[in-house]
Amino acid sequence: MNDKVLKISKELYEKENTSDENLEFLLETKEDLKPLFKLAKKKRQEIYKNSVYLRGLIEITNNCKNNCFYCGIRKDNLNLKRYQLTEKEILECCEKGYKQGLKTFVLQGGENPFFKDETLCEIVFKIKQKFKDCAVTLSIGEREKKTYESLLKAGADRFLLRHETISKNHYEKLHPKEMSLENRINCLYNLKELKYVVGSGFMVGSPFQTTKNLIADLRFLQKLKPEMIGIGPFIPHKDTPFKNYESGSINLTLRLISILRLLFKNALIPATTSLFSLDKKIMKSALDSGANVIMPNISPKKYIKNYSLYNNKIIRPEKTLKKLKKDIYLSGYRFSLSRGDPFIT
Ligand code: SAH
Repeated sequence: MNDKVLKISKELYEKENTSDENLEFLLETKEDLKPLFKLAKKKRQEIYKNSVYLRGLIEITNNCKNNCFYCGIRKDNLNLKRYQLTEKEILECCEKGYKQGLKTFVLQGGENPFFKDETLCEIVFKIKQKFKDCAVTLSIGEREKKTYESLLKAGADRFLLRHETISKNHYEKLHPKEMSLENRINCLYNLKELKYVVGSGFMVGSPFQTTKNLIADLRFLQKLKPEMIGIGPFIPHKDTPFKNYESGSINLTLRLISILRLLFKNALIPATTSLFSLDKKIMKSALDSGANVIMPNISPKKYIKNYSLYNNKIIRPEKTLKKLKKDIYLSGYRFSLSRGDPFIT
């Protein structure tokens, strides 16, 4: 019946790799995928037991100089109230998060030219001074290598920069011509060279994406070897050129999480906000597919709706992490409040 799914999943489980043809089959088949999910869960348990790592997400600004066709905070969206958190506001978010046991703060934002390098460095430095046992992750897009270097010196530990798609023709359908795939990939290699802990990834079901594009994305990740891999379904935003496209599939996202877990057994893989936005009850399935990170939003409540990358973003400001911790527990896992550094084997 589902012999082929089982056979390929076993190969992935044992060899941490398989052929393009097999990946294509797993991504497209209508057969029962239980063997894939089961082995991905087994691998997750072997490496990470039932731990889930928490990261406090702070959306520091929705100002952006770019015009990505899929993204709600693109420059040309004039229906958006723009904001930029102050140093004080960011430190207050960390303070609150820290009190609840968070040990990683992720500062994410648009490519905001008003956020000067020195300001960012100062903020990173202060967070690290104040919360010595914490990690700081940045997710602020494409910058000069020297900026990445200053931020690292200021104390930043990790950097998230999804490559979005490695296929040039697909990239050009998602971005205006002022933007370049080459630059984004260059940034990723610069981050690697500087020895950041690096995260990359892509949207699932972005307009014009093909199975071949997805396989190329997986192969690219095998070359880059990021420690963290974030994927989430594309969701349209009403004020973007892609407003009439359909959301990416939840099932395909879960398949890809399982494939990623088997290809990259040590990877830190979040169950992303976009996945939760399509299905509030997805936590157990996402963790069972191999995800091991959750990023509660600890931004000031009044700004959360303005950081609107896509429609109907789940607004779940974690006043306390109590509910989240309970959901993790009820899914059969336990939250870990360690820094959750990558496993180096
Ligand atoms: N400016 C930063 C952060 C971007 S927002 C950067 O360039 O890295 C973080 C991620 O949200 C993006 O990398 C993209 O993959 C995702 N995203 C943006 N718009 C989206 C949409 N409409 N649906 C789902 N995910 C989206």
